[in-house]
Amino acid sequence: MSQQHQQQHAEPLLEVRGLSVDIGRGSNALRVVNDLSLTVRRGEAVGLVGESGSGKSMTAFAIMNLFPSPLARVAAGQVLLEGRDLAQLAPADLRSARGAQVGMVFQDPTSYLDPLMPVGRQIAEPLLAHGRTEGLQARVLELLDMMELPNAARVARQYPHELSGGMRQRILIAAALAMRPALLIADEPTTALDVTVQAGILKLLMRLRKELDLGILLITHDLAVVAETCQRVNVMYAGQLVESNTVAPLFAAPRHPYTQGLLGSILNPQSRAQALFSIPGSVPIAGHWPEGCRFHPRCPIARGGLCDTSAPPLLQANGSGADRCHLSNEPAAADAWQRRKETMPS
Ligand code: SF4
Repeated sequence: MSQQHQQQHAEPLLEVRGLSVDIGRGSNALRVVNDLSLTVRRGEAVGLVGESGSGKSMTAFAIMNLFPSPLARVAAGQVLLEGRDLAQLAPADLRSARGAQVGMVFQDPTSYLDPLMPVGRQIAEPLLAHGRTEGLQARVLELLDMMELPNAARVARQYPHELSGGMRQRILIAAALAMRPALLIADEPTTALDVTVQAGILKLLMRLRKELDLGILLITHDLAVVAETCQRVNVMYAGQLVESNTVAPLFAAPRHPYTQGLLGSILNPQSRAQALFSIPGSVPIAGHWPEGCRFHPRCPIARGGLCDTSAPPLLQANGSGADRCHLSNEPAAADAWQRRKETMPS
């Protein structure tokens, strides 16, 4: 790898700094994402994991500055894409950055594809929107080949209802990558698909990451998906990051009790089949967070008089990673993980 290439990889492609997102205005505003920072480098897949209501999808919308509700807005922080703050761009520049620099795929491809338009035309749409008119057909066929869809010319003429769920998701990925963006944000890209189709889509994303030197921010509720695909992982709970690390140490020895609970869920096939999460209770309603540590009502090792009154900061751990827990350096946290592991099937 050349020195210049190495330098490019050291610089973050995406750098989110201190991002906060509010829904509503004035005194009625609810803070649904609070002071979140993360990075994605070229050629790297980074997971953003949490239960429904944790704020992970709102983070994705904030990065794109494309909120589903006009009441949502970036209240603080920066979203730097190759050094440019997306949150500060004029609407026209932002539209140009979307697609050209960053693409996005979502959970349910059916909602994002026009049922009355052949899929080849839909893949060409971002190219047309960015003023490209030449070589459209060739680029569409190239993208369909890249998505491993056999008989690309025939697929291009088909309508969404003629394709399977997995093929439709491949069409969305093709459209997202049409302008060769450096970053892909994938929000639960496999959740609506059955298990074997999921595996194919994840494999495809990982191949594209390597071949295109693509940075991927993969948003999911499923740590198992992250284990298969990502190099680094960020865990969110109640609008905050609670743990971040590279994948191997986080899976071997999670430090935050919430991460321990998530991992316990995926490693125990019974709880995975029944409820996905073996953590009792549910994420609090957005913006109505408990005092102290937001996880304390569900935490198996919460300490009264500390965890219910004092909010833990996100601190770098010894070695690698960071976590937001008063007790992560005490034996209580390691013991809790040990006990949880002992209840899992070997
Ligand atoms: S700070 Fe307390 S309640 Fe929060 S995760 Fe750590 S031990 Fe549990």
